Amino acid sequence: MNQVTHQDGTVRTTRAPERGGFFVIWRSMAQHNDMDKQQYDNLRHSCAHLLAKAVRELWPGAHNAIGPAIEHGFYQDFDMGDVKISDDDLPKIEHKMQEILPSWKKFTFQEVSLEEALRLFKHNPYKVELAQEFTAEGKKLQTNDPGNFLDLCKMGHVDHPDKELVHFKLLSIAGAYWRGNEKNKMLTRIYGTVFPTKEELETYLHQLEEAKKRDHRKLGKEQELFLISPSVGSGFPLYMPKGALLKRTLENWLIAEKEKRGFTFVWTPHVAKSELYKQSGHWQKYDAMFQPMKIDEEEYVLKPMNCPHHFQIYNARPRSYREMPLYLAENATVYRYEKAGELNGLLRVRALTQDDTHAFVRHQDIGIEIQKVIDLTFHVYKTFGFNDYKARVSIRDKKNLDKYMGNPATWDKAETALVDAVKKQHVEYFIGDGEAAFYGPKIDVMVKDTLGREWQLTTIQLDFIQPENFDMKFTNEKGEEERPAVLHIAILGSVDRFLGILIEHFAGAFPTWLAPVQAVVIPISQDQNEYAEKVLGELKAGGIRAENWNEAESMQNRIRKAAGEKVPYILVVGKREAEGETVAVRKRGNVDLGAMRVEKFVQNVKEEVEKKV
Ligand SMILES: [Zn+2]
Ligand SMILES: [Zn+2]
Repeated sequence: MNQVTHQDGTVRTTRAPERGGFFVIWRSMAQHNDMDKQQYDNLRHSCAHLLAKAVRELWPGAHNAIGPAIEHGFYQDFDMGDVKISDDDLPKIEHKMQEILPSWKKFTFQEVSLEEALRLFKHNPYKVELAQEFTAEGKKLQTNDPGNFLDLCKMGHVDHPDKELVHFKLLSIAGAYWRGNEKNKMLTRIYGTVFPTKEELETYLHQLEEAKKRDHRKLGKEQELFLISPSVGSGFPLYMPKGALLKRTLENWLIAEKEKRGFTFVWTPHVAKSELYKQSGHWQKYDAMFQPMKIDEEEYVLKPMNCPHHFQIYNARPRSYREMPLYLAENATVYRYEKAGELNGLLRVRALTQDDTHAFVRHQDIGIEIQKVIDLTFHVYKTFGFNDYKARVSIRDKKNLDKYMGNPATWDKAETALVDAVKKQHVEYFIGDGEAAFYGPKIDVMVKDTLGREWQLTTIQLDFIQPENFDMKFTNEKGEEERPAVLHIAILGSVDRFLGILIEHFAGAFPTWLAPVQAVVIPISQDQNEYAEKVLGELKAGGIRAENWNEAESMQNRIRKAAGEKVPYILVVGKREAEGETVAVRKRGNVDLGAMRVEKFVQNVKEEVEKKV
């Protein structure tokens, strides 16, 4: 049932195999001009034709398969026969594309019969298959020819390719199975991008470069935060001490923030009977569950969701209105099948920890509780320096009210409450008309990071159907039974993905309160080691995460290493500091704060941690 709740940005029922795990949208490009998504898609897809033509000219034996527009660009798949090409060939292909482009004045189209299409494309088994498929789907077949290159496709095109396709760039080459199916032939996929202006192309390429430098997989390795071990399996990240500390710091802080607001924490195991998910409907509707296993002749699965577990806790005993709203929260690891090709560091994994909450709420309190959760959501974002976000409120399709579960008056109120909650925060929002699931409206929040990339993080999903499925109730003031509504709340979404985003957002230079190591002590020589140990003891007693780097390595090297690891503070201690009971403080970014007494330093860091700056 909950296909659209609690997911790391994916919509399970409409999985798009060609998409990576990034969910990144460079909004900036759309703001620069009035082009809508369709026009961008036309531009990108048209450029894929140009790429196909160039490759076919360079390697006449190559067959082009599909060449769709994707987010930020396009790709074109080729069956290259026995030819192997690599990134080194991209400049040559680009050159050929530029050479061809001036002769591409206009796409001309012609409707053809299936027989005609099969004859025209008989050399290309992929086009033959597509022609048969389009026909079977009842689509008309149309060939297109922008200039001496007949092709068959079903997407839109630009009017003046020679003028519009000028600002393109090929980005990479990868292998991809025909139709994303491992049983099919492995094709060669060339990725590229194209923009209406040179400026936009350059901005995008610059962002790509920046993103590479900040790649959380690269930084995660350099800073020893996490690893993916082939012996454990891809999609199952292992957190190393510093990464685990980072994760725990983040989680502990958020747990404390939630507890301040009345959330209570539970713990549920990672495995449950298949029956549980049949009752919740996940079994029937959710396609990312792992294969079940047998224990004592009964069927069990790794949990993909926590909802039905928390419902058991709600139903553990009769509930009274005095307990409402009841917030059951858990940072819980759930297991979801993701295709191997879509796994990506911490951003897309098969074992993800959700900061999950189920709030059991009286219908009359929905508005106020949503408000409370939204308040917390924006408090969280602001704490991490995400100041640019927008919300989507998904509501019913007003022309199709029959398909929604629950009382229409309650829906009306709930939808208004959701909109009011985002309005009150003065954040940008838009209405997803008809995008609500049949069991309740929801709010999603998209956040922009320092690179201008947009991530969908928070989901607050109202649910009227699970209370029915699990027969949840409570006794009201009049002694009557009432049914609560459920709010599925995930503020960070996947904690792992959020950490991946944070690593890139901060480029590994975490604010002091989050940094796994907040300060390193560097004694100038072994003579100061005893004093350095004493300083370390005081730092630790003051609650500061610190290390004494007293290796027999030059001081400059140790300082360079600490700077490379982006440690917030380096405390150098020499003879003078030892005598004066001080430390020479350098703040990250090579800012010399001079000598200060250790208590003073501890005090300063504590204040900084408190303020979360
Ligand atoms: Zn086309
Ligand atoms: Zn849930």
